[in-house]
Amino acid sequence: MSEVLENYVRGRWQAGKAPLADLHDPTTGEVIARASTGGIDMKGALDWARDVGGKALRAMTFAQRAEMLLAASKAIHAHRDALLEVGIRNGGNTRKDAKFDVDGAIGTLAAYADWGKKLGDTDAMLDGEGIQLGRTPRLWGQHVLLPRHGVAVHVNAFNFPAWGLAEKAACAWLAGMPVVSKPATATAMLAERVVRVLVDAKVLPEGALSLLCGSAGDLLDHMTAQDVLAFTGSADTGYLLRSKERLLRRSVRVNVEADSLNSAVLGPDVEPGTETWNLFLRDVVTDMTQKAGQKCTAIRRVLVPAARLADVEADLKERLTALKIGHPGQEGVGMGPLSTASQLRDAKAGVTKLLAESTIVFGTLDEPALVGATPGAGWFLSPVLLRTKDASAAKTVHEHEVFGPVSTLLPWDGTPAAAADLVRKGEGSLVASVFSDDRDFVRQMIVAIGPWHGRLYLGSEHMAGQSPGPGTVLPGTIHGGPGRAGGGEELGAFRGLALYQQRVALEGDRAAIEKMFPPK
Ligand code: NAP
Repeated sequence: MSEVLENYVRGRWQAGKAPLADLHDPTTGEVIARASTGGIDMKGALDWARDVGGKALRAMTFAQRAEMLLAASKAIHAHRDALLEVGIRNGGNTRKDAKFDVDGAIGTLAAYADWGKKLGDTDAMLDGEGIQLGRTPRLWGQHVLLPRHGVAVHVNAFNFPAWGLAEKAACAWLAGMPVVSKPATATAMLAERVVRVLVDAKVLPEGALSLLCGSAGDLLDHMTAQDVLAFTGSADTGYLLRSKERLLRRSVRVNVEADSLNSAVLGPDVEPGTETWNLFLRDVVTDMTQKAGQKCTAIRRVLVPAARLADVEADLKERLTALKIGHPGQEGVGMGPLSTASQLRDAKAGVTKLLAESTIVFGTLDEPALVGATPGAGWFLSPVLLRTKDASAAKTVHEHEVFGPVSTLLPWDGTPAAAADLVRKGEGSLVASVFSDDRDFVRQMIVAIGPWHGRLYLGSEHMAGQSPGPGTVLPGTIHGGPGRAGGGEELGAFRGLALYQQRVALEGDRAAIEKMFPPK
C-alpha cells in the first residue's frame, strides 16, 4: 500500500476521504503516494487560519516575524537531504534540480528574515514620505501599510513544491498574514514534508500555516474581502480562478503567475568564443535542461542574428549532445524525466504544433537513450531544439508555451527594432535576456521590451562570472510579468509584502501622526 498524504488543517493532520489521487515516481511510473482533500471543511480551515493564525501574526513585530522566518529556514535546512530525496522521487528532479527547489525555499525564507530584521520592532510600514496637505505642515498626510485581517490562500504549480510554498509564505508571514497552501497534487509529497518539518519544529505560531494536499474543492467559495489569493500555474486555470464570481463580487485581491514565452536575444556584437557568447550558450542549455525545462522562467525563444545562426546551432548541439538523461538520482545524469505523464503528453503535442512552422535542429520525440532507468517506464523526453522557418510570420512559437526541455531558435536581421517586434509577440513574459556588451544596443532593447516584462536579465562579460542565469528567481528582484504571464508580481524584497498589506492614507495632525508612526 502506498502512503496517504495528509492535510494539515485547524492544527491537525487529517487524511482526506476517497477518491484519492495517485502521486507517481516519474522515473518508473510507480504510484508512490495518494492524496485527497475529500471531507475537509474548507470554510472551517479558512476561518481558523484567520482567527488563530492572523491574530498571532499581527501581535508580532517585524523583528519577531523575522526570527520566525529564520527559524523556519533553519528547520528546513536541517532536513535538507531527506527533502532532496523526495524531490528526486516525486518530482523526477536530479539532485541539482532538487537543490534548486529546496535551497530556494531555505534561501528565500532567510532573505526575508534579513529584510524583516531591518524593519525592526514595529508592526506597520510607512509607504513613502509624509506630505503637507494644508496651508501649513500641521495638516499632514502619510501612507502606512498594515497587514490584511484575512488569510493568504496560495495555489501552487507542480514544478517547485518547496520554493513555491516558501517564497509566497515568506512574504505573507513577514507582512503578518496566515497561509493556507495548496500545492499541485501531482508533486505534493515534497510540500507535505516541508510542512511536517515546520510543524514538528514548532517554529510557527498556531494557525500560521495550513496545507491541502489534493483538490481545492470549494476553498475559494469561502474567501472574503480581507483575504488574498496568490496563484501560480497555467493561464487557463488562472483565468478560471480570477473570474470566480465570489472573488469578483468581494474584490478579493488576486495575484496570478502564469505562462510565459521568455526570450533570449543574442546581440549582433557578440563574437563566437567570447565570455558573453559562452554565457549565452550556458544559459540557454541550463534553461532547456534544468528541471527538464519545466520552469516558468525558462528561455523558450532564442533570437539569433542570422549571420551567427550556424555557429550558435553547432555550439548548442555540441553541449546538448554531452547531456546524460536518465535516473535523476544517478551520478552524472544531467536531466531527469518530466514530472507527470500529462506533462510528457502535452510537451510532445506542443512540439508537434511548433513543427508546423519550425524544424528540429536537435533531439526527437522518441524516448532518448537512458542512464540507469528502464526504457518505456518513465516520462522521458530529450531536449528538443527547433528553428523557425520565418520568425516574424510564425505564430505558435510566440503563443504556445511548451513546458518541457524545448526551445526554438529565431533568426533575425540583428536590428534592435526587429528583435523588439519579435519579443513583444509573446504578449508579456516573466523575463527576457539580452546578451550583449554593446550598451547602446542593450539600452534600446530595455526601452523597447521593458514594458512587456517583469524582469530583464542583461548578460555581459562583466557579470558572467557571478550570474545564476535568467531562469533563477532571486528574492531581491520582482518575479511576475504582464499579459500572458498573468499580470502578477511577487518577491522584490519589501515589494513582496504589498500583496498582503492594505495601504491606508492618514490625514491629520503632523505631530500626532509622526509620534504614532515615526519617520525613519
Ligand atoms: P495548473 O494545472 O494550472 O495547476 C496549478 C495549480 O492550480 C495546482 O495546484 C492545481 O491543483 C490548481 N488548480 C487547478 N484547477 C483548479 C481549480 N479549478 N480550482 C482551484 N485550483 C485549481 O498548472 P501546473 O500544470 O501545475 O503548472 C504548469 C503551468 O504553470 C505552466 O503553464 C507554467 O508556465 C506555469 N507556471 C508559472 C509560474 C510563474 O511563476 N509564472 C511558475 C511555475 C509554473 P491540482 O494539481 O490539484 O489540479
